[in-house]
Amino acid sequence: MKLYETFPLSLTNSLSGKKEVFTPITPGFVGMYVCGPTVYNNVHLGNARTFLSFDIISRYLRFLGYKVRYVRNITDVGHLENDADEGEDKIGKKARLEQLEPMEIVKRYTEDFHSVMRQFNILPPSIEPSATGHIVEQIQITQKLIELGLAYETNGSVYFDVKKYNLSHHYGILSGRNIEDLMESGRDLDSQDEKREKIDFALWKKASPSHIMRWPSPWGDGFPGWHIECTVMSTKYLGETFDIHGGGMDLKFPHHECEIAQATGANGKSPVHYWIHSNMLTVNGQKMSKSLGNSFLPGELFSGNHAMLEKGFTPMTVRFFMLQSHYSSTLDFSNEALLAAEKGYKKLSTSLSTIKAIAYSAESSQPDEEINNTLKSLIASCYQNMSDDFNTAKTLAVLFEMSSRINDIKSGNLPLSKIDPTVFDSFKKAYIGFMEDALGLKEEVSHDDQLLDGTIKVLIELRKKARVDRNYPLSDKIRDDLKGIGVQLKDGKDGEITYSFE
Ligand code: AMP
Ligand code: ZN
Repeated sequence: MKLYETFPLSLTNSLSGKKEVFTPITPGFVGMYVCGPTVYNNVHLGNARTFLSFDIISRYLRFLGYKVRYVRNITDVGHLENDADEGEDKIGKKARLEQLEPMEIVKRYTEDFHSVMRQFNILPPSIEPSATGHIVEQIQITQKLIELGLAYETNGSVYFDVKKYNLSHHYGILSGRNIEDLMESGRDLDSQDEKREKIDFALWKKASPSHIMRWPSPWGDGFPGWHIECTVMSTKYLGETFDIHGGGMDLKFPHHECEIAQATGANGKSPVHYWIHSNMLTVNGQKMSKSLGNSFLPGELFSGNHAMLEKGFTPMTVRFFMLQSHYSSTLDFSNEALLAAEKGYKKLSTSLSTIKAIAYSAESSQPDEEINNTLKSLIASCYQNMSDDFNTAKTLAVLFEMSSRINDIKSGNLPLSKIDPTVFDSFKKAYIGFMEDALGLKEEVSHDDQLLDGTIKVLIELRKKARVDRNYPLSDKIRDDLKGIGVQLKDGKDGEITYSFE
């Protein structure tokens, strides 16, 4: 039996707003698409949270035994400064300001994005397609929508006809909106506008003479609208209907609503079975965003080099901090929370090193049924919590309990002889597996730890030298003073000196 059969997954589908039992289209296989970054800026910590949420989802699906094709795109054209199809292209603007080629901007910030993902141990997707690599397909689907009467051309630009689509479908199905309300809100069209209705959105935009990023099309030189790239790339690599589509909560409307309309209009079927939206990282209750001036770069957080920070925190501490809340809840950033996370993570990570080093050995084993049952139920709880809508917070709480048992084993309070060898083996595998594979929390030696280790080793060398010189008072002083601050030196048979913390 596969793990996904033993611990069936349920997840909150934004489309129904309910928790549903996950049933993939093809048994054992999951196709998942997540909207990637627009690469015109350094990735901030808020962006990282969203990609971390989907890293957890793809990791856990694989952990359960599913084969996963995870597609996450790079938006390198078409994302305009505002959602009403107005303003400059974000990448084009940056290129103009910095007097660079747009592709130089794309390269620089794609590399920044990848390096941040690596630091947080966020695994790369299976396919990472870019919008500019799929211009032909975007033109083709736009043509198809015109032929189907769901899009129209005005003055070299093409717009999706939302009212027409809404005659046979519900535009607003995902975000719980309806067309009448949408028609009443927002700015009214004026005589300059190319759109028939203000709710229509661009599939293709005519490039003005000064617009740098441009491609030839049946409607003249232009560039694709933002929403169409995701429809093209998701269905190209995952099929017209696929399992999971994700993104930050702020993409639900209009981006994902438009994706549903385009794909349903073109292919006659709803593109996605399960929509998952992750929630925002906030600072003092406000969404972290570059434009609000309350964002941190991950590098600033690691170094502590930021006015709001008391000190630096390691990538795994930050990862742990984020996993302490459910992906669907907002998470507020604070120094205090990170300081607490640092302590908590250290406990889990120390137990990870400890359990890795323990090999089962017991002279005569007399397994205690109650203890074995407790350990087995802790393992099952990890699966149950993660299979319950990827509840990382509750899973971490179980890992803390497991960590206490690991400490008991290490100290001898829980003798291995009381544990059945196969139970111990499953317990060890589960702790390591949930920490490293499912949650992506790896052992990490902090800079402070490295410094401490190096300093103690220098003192050990001085003590060795003092002994060779028969300077026993100095040798003893080094040993006793270290003991005074909780560092215990141990003299080995071969003259080697090791240390441990009391
Ligand atoms: P962008 O490059 O602006 O399109 O954003 C990339 C991703 O980061 C999108 O999925 C956004 O939803 C997400 N995002 C932006 N700000 C935050 C935030 N403060 N917290 C969590 N996710 C965010
Ligand atoms: Zn998208």
